[in-house]
Amino acid sequence: MTARILDGKAIAARLRAGLAARVATLSFQPGLRVVRVGDDPASGVYVRNKDRAAAEAGFDSATIHLPADTTEAALLATIARLNADPAVDGILVQLPLPAQIRAEAAIAAVDPAKDVDGFHPINAGRLAAGQPGLVPCTPRGVMHILAESGIDLRGARAVVLGRSQIVGRPMAQLLLGADCTVTVAHSRTRDIAAECRRAEVLVAAVGRAEMVRGDWIAPGAVVVDVGINRLADGRLVGDVAYAEALTVAGAITPVPGGVGPMTIACLLENTLEAALARRGT
Ligand code: NDP
Repeated sequence: MTARILDGKAIAARLRAGLAARVATLSFQPGLRVVRVGDDPASGVYVRNKDRAAAEAGFDSATIHLPADTTEAALLATIARLNADPAVDGILVQLPLPAQIRAEAAIAAVDPAKDVDGFHPINAGRLAAGQPGLVPCTPRGVMHILAESGIDLRGARAVVLGRSQIVGRPMAQLLLGADCTVTVAHSRTRDIAAECRRAEVLVAAVGRAEMVRGDWIAPGAVVVDVGINRLADGRLVGDVAYAEALTVAGAITPVPGGVGPMTIACLLENTLEAALARRGT
């Protein structure tokens, strides 16, 4: 058996095209501002890709690039200015931040109505309470891939590897909201392979290259690989041993070209939603 490959790149392209078509009908451009502090190289690539995708979809997008020695107070003042700016619908503070700035302080400073990353405790709380709010982009992208691929989640046994605020926890909440029976595994989980083998839907978000082996996967399972890991030889691999998984899984997202492209598309989707909600349209 060879697994069906879930083409996140194509799904993201369709989502972006749909968003562009909706934005074209509006009397305003949804405004997105990314705040970047310092020169983390991975952030640089992300910010450039985001700017291009946002411009292509008709958003008013700009990056505010602050120097690496920016103080926490100065960053919070920048965020306060963006919170107060009526043209700005979405604010994203690019992580990681330099050591002198507490990420929690920056995240908490963003107006929850403009928090298009969905990291503010108010939005995390809404998600946990099953209430509408802005949802973190990567798990939201995973849900799109599953929905677009016709995966029936109701009653499915789902295992999420990883419990970060950015991916694992919100992923588990979204799967629970979709009526999965959810297990969250992490670095303290006993016999993680056995937990994985029980999964009909397995989402890996640990940041460990090819940790999930083929014999951790139940035959026919749906495997979503969120991990992005750069090997010493420069290759980009996921958290799942892809070649092994292909022969066991029913469906799988590749790395690259799976979850990655969905994240920016969902950032734009969140920005459009925030804009429509704020402007009462
Ligand atoms: P974090 O480092 O914040 O969290 C990793 C999680 O994995 C933690 O909960 C940790 O457990 C768990 N973990 C680490 N090692 C093991 C292990 N050996 N066994 C079991 N669990 C383990 O990472 P993120 O959630 O931010 O990201 C996860 C991966 O997803 C990374 O590869 C990242 O690059 C990628 N990513 C991809 C995105 C995309 O757009 N596709 C977006 C965001 C992230 P514990 O809590 O116990 O420490």
